Amino acid sequence: MSSAPFSQLPLPPRALENLTQMGYTQMTEIQAQSLPALLSGRDLIAQAKTGSGKTAAFGIGLLTRLNPKLFAVQSLILCPTRELATQVASELRRLARYLDNIKILTLCGGQPIGPQIGSLEHGAHILVATPGRLCDHLRKGTVELNQLNTLVLDEADRMLDMGFEADIRSIIGQTPEKRQTLLFSATYPEQIEAISAAYQFDPLRIEVESQH
Ligand code: ADP
Ligand code: MG
Repeated sequence: MSSAPFSQLPLPPRALENLTQMGYTQMTEIQAQSLPALLSGRDLIAQAKTGSGKTAAFGIGLLTRLNPKLFAVQSLILCPTRELATQVASELRRLARYLDNIKILTLCGGQPIGPQIGSLEHGAHILVATPGRLCDHLRKGTVELNQLNTLVLDEADRMLDMGFEADIRSIIGQTPEKRQTLLFSATYPEQIEAISAAYQFDPLRIEVESQH
């Protein structure tokens, strides 16, 4: 764990209180290195091991830009698997407890699409999705990304290994150009560099070796 407290960040008091209630007082290394830049709106490409606290790093950032009164998808997190998407959504729900009525939906393959379409009809602020299923929704017109302000590619190298590159590119093509794009990956293959070069603007690069 780094020795930097969350209280040194320019976060709303209610967000800080909620972090304290979650037992989060000190930032992990990746949080300390990324959050000042994330909160200022900068793009990020980060390499960090599992368990280093990446979800809260991007989650705390994207929640500061969320308008609860705007019932449109403002943040999108792409994950390689349903298990990871479920974990991310559950951490985001805890991080978002200080905001009222934030709707977070997971859209993953291997599950019937009908109930997902039903949930989408009621609107959502945040989507956590696997690329294939999100593309299905975009083709059907059941998801719109024109109000998106934050896009996260979580475990990007695994998504590319699974053959999702074309889907990821198609999804990003349907988001506003003025957005924050955050890329998290355990490794930096050439494909990741290509995605970063195509879709990020002057990203901050960070690499965190240790767990904390
Ligand atoms: P990663 O995505 O890097 O694998 P996670 O975001 O899943 O890591 O976080 C790993 C664990 O660390 C989770 O159990 C999470 O609740 C916990 N955690 C994250 N940040 C903090 C923090 N600042 N203080 C205490 N625990 C934290
Ligand atoms: Mg993670």
